[in-house]
Amino acid sequence: MVWLKTRDGYGELAQAASLGIAILKKTRQNTWRELLEAMEASEAHVVKTFRSLDLSDSQLQAITRHQEVLNLLVITPAAVPAICPKCGHFILVSDTVPSKCMVGSGCEGKPAKVAAATAGKGEPPEAETPAAPAAQAPRKGTADADDFDFEDDPFG
Ligand SMILES: [Zn+2]
Repeated sequence: MVWLKTRDGYGELAQAASLGIAILKKTRQNTWRELLEAMEASEAHVVKTFRSLDLSDSQLQAITRHQEVLNLLVITPAAVPAICPKCGHFILVSDTVPSKCMVGSGCEGKPAKVAAATAGKGEPPEAETPAAPAAQAPRKGTADADDFDFEDDPFG
């Protein structure tokens, strides 16, 4: 399996874009739309590459939640987001990143271009899966109020 690693400190949007660029490069597709079309057409290289990718749950979640930024990615000629660390907005850039945020008015953040996730083989550097298998599998798919359980509320 091949795992992908995004840079430390990346927010979910940057993570999604970073993974998206790496996935497009690996599958040799130019845009996310092309990738989806190739998947639909069961293109051998694309399907095989995707199967070999070991994406973590949080990575899959980032990709699912930020389809809109993935749809903007282009490999050639490059169009990748540069994200402002201050206001969180992003602009699409090719090579040069503007030295000042152009989205927020008066924002003084300096946008940083999202770098493609790096690939590695074997065991991921930090395993995100729990070491011990969970005795009781939590209900999957109904993760709306995981952190709050008021069922045993003594004041209720
Ligand atoms: Zn900004």
